[in-house]
Amino acid sequence: MKSVKFSEVLTCPHGCEPFEADRWSFVNATQNPELKDAVLGGELNLFCCPQCNSFFHGDTDLIYLDEQSALLVFVFSDKNRKNKKELLSKMEQDYALLKDSLFKQIKLDFGPMYVFGLEELKNVVLREQERTDESEAIAAAAAALGFKVARLSPQWAREHESPLYVAAGVDGTAGGYAAAAQKVLQSGLKSPLLAHFAKLMEGEGAKPPEVL
Ligand SMILES: [Zn+2]
Repeated sequence: MKSVKFSEVLTCPHGCEPFEADRWSFVNATQNPELKDAVLGGELNLFCCPQCNSFFHGDTDLIYLDEQSALLVFVFSDKNRKNKKELLSKMEQDYALLKDSLFKQIKLDFGPMYVFGLEELKNVVLREQERTDESEAIAAAAAALGFKVARLSPQWAREHESPLYVAAGVDGTAGGYAAAAQKVLQSGLKSPLLAHFAKLMEGEGAKPPEVL
């Protein structure tokens, strides 16, 4: 489904005359990677007041979806921080509705996250971008050592501060993953995510990761 923007009446923080502009309310980062770049660059929903020429962000609710990264983020207005409890219960309702309507074609097997304001959204997207870059280096290093590469569930990886790709162990056990990760690290690859994953897999009673 496509990204959505609406024409809205906006007023700059200096209280100038209201003006009309298009504001994004739903961003599909997989279909519109340029909007993901806009989030990272701080240009999404950034407006310039035609009267005083000052720039300001349209600080209103927004939904950000990136299927590839299994990322669904409800972005609430920064000024609504104090209403967190109500917003979260509304988010759960909206999520249930969206799952059965707009997002029906999407395999939505990951839960929603929430942030307040576009700056926090930028940090989440940036973190996922870094995870992707680091994971690609891990996949390359693992393949160079002759390992099969396992793709982990992005949600599992996010919740366990782990990479998206790891060297597949020989037997699918946590211990097997740990040994394979250690071999990749010993090859000289510097990866805090993989080091954390290896530690996790070595832990007492560790379960193997969720693999796609
Ligand atoms: Zn103004």
